[in-house]
Amino acid sequence: MDIKPAYGLFVNGEWVDGEVRNKTVNPATEEVLAEVTWATESEVDTAVRAARAAYENVWSRMPGRERAKYLFRIARIIQERARELAVLESLDNGKPIRESRDVDVPLVAAHFFYYAGWADKLGYAGFGPDPRPIGVAGQVIPWNFPLLMLAWKIAPALACGNTVVLKPAETTPLTALVFAEICQEADLPPGVVNIVTGAGETGHALVSHPDVNKVAFTGSTEVGRAIAKSVAGTRKKVTLELGGKAANIVFDDAPIDQAVEGIVNGIFFNQGHVCCAGSRLLVQESVYDEVLAGLKRRMALLRVGDPLDKNTDIGAINSAAQLERIRTLSDIGAEEGAARWSPPCELPDRGFWFAPTIFTGVTQAHRIAREEIFGPVLSVLTFRTPAEAVEKANNTPYGLSAGVWTDKGSRILWTADRLRAGVVWANTFNKFDPASPFGGYKESGYGREGGRHGLEAYLDV
Ligand code: NAD
Ligand code: MG
Repeated sequence: MDIKPAYGLFVNGEWVDGEVRNKTVNPATEEVLAEVTWATESEVDTAVRAARAAYENVWSRMPGRERAKYLFRIARIIQERARELAVLESLDNGKPIRESRDVDVPLVAAHFFYYAGWADKLGYAGFGPDPRPIGVAGQVIPWNFPLLMLAWKIAPALACGNTVVLKPAETTPLTALVFAEICQEADLPPGVVNIVTGAGETGHALVSHPDVNKVAFTGSTEVGRAIAKSVAGTRKKVTLELGGKAANIVFDDAPIDQAVEGIVNGIFFNQGHVCCAGSRLLVQESVYDEVLAGLKRRMALLRVGDPLDKNTDIGAINSAAQLERIRTLSDIGAEEGAARWSPPCELPDRGFWFAPTIFTGVTQAHRIAREEIFGPVLSVLTFRTPAEAVEKANNTPYGLSAGVWTDKGSRILWTADRLRAGVVWANTFNKFDPASPFGGYKESGYGREGGRHGLEAYLDV
């Protein structure tokens, strides 16, 4: 795998040198991986113009069956370059190679395959006989699943006939830049996909550009709110995928061993940098001791360390800033009276690390029960009746996901019916499929990505 010492911007099918440079580091070692451009407002403008020209002259006029061929080709090249992409994602983000190799990259390819299949069937998707694209999409994504979030944004946009300017997160730009190379390799017409790297200012320039027709954002609720304000009163269409504080509910009839695995996967997958993470565990009182003992036993076996080691379960925290946020909220949890526990675990000297942590004795008023920590930190609460479980689960400004663990199908359905969450997993957690829509209620955002529902955000309907 080759990482170039410096990357420009990918605009109109070509690499252009930018004015401002910044570095992206490997969070597991703090070593600099590459220099990356931070696009200015005028560079963003050039990218939007390229996307507009490609939209008007080429992509929106091309029959769906032709667009599909490009998407299939991109999907196949992603599969061919899967190992390279997985290593690069783990280097730039800090996530364990086991996850980037077995989860992120396969889902990226699956997403392009899935939406390639829709490109010539849009007339049968339930949005009228000949649904039209919207135009130029300005897309801003976070650092937790860099290439997967790119796929969630770009695949449906292109399938529907839109063109794209995408801004990856400042700490994880590298796989998006290799994706630009893949677009070249696939002979995608120039300007259909443009990648502009940078931080918040670049993102702001993109979403507030007057010639962008559709804004798609995944990230914090705070920035999502600012974007909603900046597009209010314009004709731009918007989808927002924001934060979460998911309840993972364990009833007393649940298979406890499986539930413990699901709890661990729910909160420690990807270091807990997951918007749909099961960060609030709700355990029925009668099985509390058994679940807690099993959970602690399992947590003591988790291996924290080198993301490129195939045996690693928990990798590096993505940035110094994120580590600081996790530390601050965890300290507040202890100050407010919750009991903190981590298994004995040695952390590397360099890089950004946080041991897997649980808090017990958490009440609904505690900040660690209300705010998204976005790290490997679980808050444990208890309940007595199903009604109380539902009430506590819904007592959050968010509504992205939830989990239910029980032996009874009827109880799964009863609970899922009452949970205000976009996704409810039953006897599993953090399972993703391109055919399944994903998105939130309340402050978790609006719009759906994935599945047939995901087409709606990119069609003029
Ligand atoms: P963020 O919302 O600041 O960043 C997400 C993306 O938005 C990045 O690409 C960033 O450059 C861009 N951005 C920042 N300001 C912008 C603006 N004004 N206009 C347009 N784009 C802008 O998130 P963060 O600071 O990296 O993380 C902060 C918190 O957000 C985390 O602790 C976590 O709680 C939450 N978060 C959630 C998700 C998610 O998937 N829902 C992802 C990342 C972070
Ligand atoms: Mg990085």
